[in-house]
Amino acid sequence: MLGLMQDWPLTVDRILDHAKANFPRREVVTRSVEGPISRTTYANIWRRAKQVTNALQERGVGLGDRVATLAWNTERHIEAWYGAMGMGAILHTVNPRLFPEQIAWIINHAEDKILFFDTTFTPIVEKIAPLLKTVQTYVAFTDREHTPKSSVTHFVAYEDFIHGHAQEAAWGGFDEHTAAGLCYTSGTTGDPKGVLYSHRSNVLHAMAANQTDVFGCGASDVVMPIVPMFHANAWAISFVGPMCGAKLVMPGAKLDGPSVYELLETEGVTFTAAVPTVWLGLLAFLRENNLRPTTLKRVVIGGSAVPEAVLRAFEEDYGIEVLHGWGMTEMSPMGSVGKLLPEHAAMDHEAQIKTKLKQGRPPFTVEMKIVDDDGKLKPHDGKAFGRLLVRGPSIARAYFKNAGAKNEKGECLEPCGFFDTGDVATIDELGIMQITDRAKDVIKSGGEWISSIDIENIAVGAEGVANAAVIGVLHPKWDERPLLIIEPKPGAQPTREQLLAFLEGKIAKWWTPDDVVFVEKIPLGATGKINKLALRETFKDYKLPSAQAAE
Ligand code: AMP
Repeated sequence: MLGLMQDWPLTVDRILDHAKANFPRREVVTRSVEGPISRTTYANIWRRAKQVTNALQERGVGLGDRVATLAWNTERHIEAWYGAMGMGAILHTVNPRLFPEQIAWIINHAEDKILFFDTTFTPIVEKIAPLLKTVQTYVAFTDREHTPKSSVTHFVAYEDFIHGHAQEAAWGGFDEHTAAGLCYTSGTTGDPKGVLYSHRSNVLHAMAANQTDVFGCGASDVVMPIVPMFHANAWAISFVGPMCGAKLVMPGAKLDGPSVYELLETEGVTFTAAVPTVWLGLLAFLRENNLRPTTLKRVVIGGSAVPEAVLRAFEEDYGIEVLHGWGMTEMSPMGSVGKLLPEHAAMDHEAQIKTKLKQGRPPFTVEMKIVDDDGKLKPHDGKAFGRLLVRGPSIARAYFKNAGAKNEKGECLEPCGFFDTGDVATIDELGIMQITDRAKDVIKSGGEWISSIDIENIAVGAEGVANAAVIGVLHPKWDERPLLIIEPKPGAQPTREQLLAFLEGKIAKWWTPDDVVFVEKIPLGATGKINKLALRETFKDYKLPSAQAAE
């Protein structure tokens, strides 16, 4: 027998409809790419998103067609986002930090028809335009005055693109499983793969991500997504904001410490989210200028592990709660958040900090397990390492055009139906997960695994250290041994001996790096994570002193 409740397809246009109906005057504030701060409301965004729909339809875009954006977090990006998704087109966010050749490959693979871009990225667009096979219209996210003239192709100003179009258009009305968004993984191995979100997966994910023990945002919050919309949907914030009626603050192109601080204070931001590198910039600026955030209450840090020094600075120096998040593009992306449980209340502060450094618990809609190489379950005792597998309604079942298929149905799943995250983790009795490594970054020493991330997180807290990375280097006796790579802070000169002494007692003795090298800059990938591939390439012939001794 079926239930007798209404059929109300979970399509994302309903999110903006809800914001317009219930929070029409709530502000959306943007640091525009042109410079000035601009202010609009959910009602205006809704109207202009409808104009986007009509403009797209006029250009022949229909259900299932792909529309690309190469853009920062701004109000215009949100309008194009809902305008495309609302009519059943697929909004494809492209990461501008990739190499132009990769960007061209991705746009051709997605067969995007329209490309919206911020003028910051004009040089990239001019470089790739001759390579693009399907893009018919290039729309600069600005007005006519600020639209650059191009010798390569014709750019349409966004304001002209939507001008004169009706502020009403039909949205939704299709199956909730219809594709809504497309985002390619960073592709450190092989070609990038497209993750194709559905309307239903996005709506469920936004509701899951805003549970009280995850983001927990409401209409009184002022939410600033620093994490870009091209990095896995700004971690759901572009849906969560209008869903709960929060004021949105969009930081545009400026993510440096002073610019972030200025928006936090002038707009009264209470909740924000970004990768650790952004926070390193903000914290350095606060310290140098003896400033403190006065309205910020919670900050989500994820994308890579939260360094202990960053966690302590927020929580101990400024009284701001850190929510350590883990996830991935394939998971929409939120997979877990490190919010404390009642069981942790009686613990002392140091034990709580240790717990908060872990990646945390999955929200409802995410199932997790750890297994060995044969798929056999590993115990949830907080000690056993295993490959982390996940399952849920907002987790990829297959990649776009069946890339990386693992079975004859074109799915990217393990035989047990779970998705292999490529991460190695422990899970404890309370369900708290801790990433110990990427499967390919784990250092295999004498048959045992060493977690590069653990060592990095501690080393980054040593004096004079701006950033730290640990990679495995070949060793004749142990297969691999850890090499610690340090980027010193400007003007600082930490020594090998100081760093090894700093690690002593904080990690198992046999995890101690065999050597320390200093570099001017640790390379970061397109999503702000340490580029281990590049480091492994640089140090592939590195001879550890211990290796020479063993030879
Ligand atoms: P992406 O799809 O580019 O967001 O990358 C996802 C990967 O980033 C995950 O599989 C993890 O390896 C890594 N990652 C994300 N968040 C964290 C975190 N909090 N701690 C450690 N690694 C993380």
